[in-house]
Amino acid sequence: MLNWISDNAPGQSRKNGRPLGVIVRAKALEMIEEHIKQIAKYTALWIQQQHDKYLPNCVSLPNNVRAYLTPYFEPEILLEAKFVFVDIIKNPSFYNLLANLPISFNPIDFRLMDGITFNNVILLNRSKQNSPFLKSLIFHELVHFVQYKLLGITLFANQYISGFFENGLNYPRIPLELIAYRLQNQFETSKSPFSVSAEVRNFLGI
Ligand SMILES: [Zn+2]
Repeated sequence: MLNWISDNAPGQSRKNGRPLGVIVRAKALEMIEEHIKQIAKYTALWIQQQHDKYLPNCVSLPNNVRAYLTPYFEPEILLEAKFVFVDIIKNPSFYNLLANLPISFNPIDFRLMDGITFNNVILLNRSKQNSPFLKSLIFHELVHFVQYKLLGITLFANQYISGFFENGLNYPRIPLELIAYRLQNQFETSKSPFSVSAEVRNFLGI
């Protein structure tokens, strides 16, 4: 894909003093950026659709869960968050359209995920229902809800998708995931409470 970048016609190798290859490459990058923006738009739409689809089946966090999370999250986060157990997290239907793009990459495989958050709606894999890991999983997903609260769905989707492309198409290196995993680790290993909201604001520079 994009192998036409170096396809300069003989005798047309410079334009306005800039090598044509540089101009073509810049155009190619511009085009890739446009496609990334498009994928972010699809993602934002998907988040909203999944939120609306699963919300009616969701329940609030139980009192005992809210109790152990109270030192880390503001009360409205714990009250507004809803969750549901699912057999599998499905990949977005817009993945079918990715084959039509002139950029080739392996998208994130959400089917392998234990949890996912669509604004205040959290989907948890049923296989984790009785797992000791469940506490950490809920904590991690609530960090994403805090990110949604601070950024809104559109900006969250933009940062998630651009973070994926700018970090080697590497899911754990997406900055919104990095901070979620870092805080999850802090939650698991430290007994001192901390404000997730303050940490996320600090990380995002807002
Ligand atoms: Zn995550």
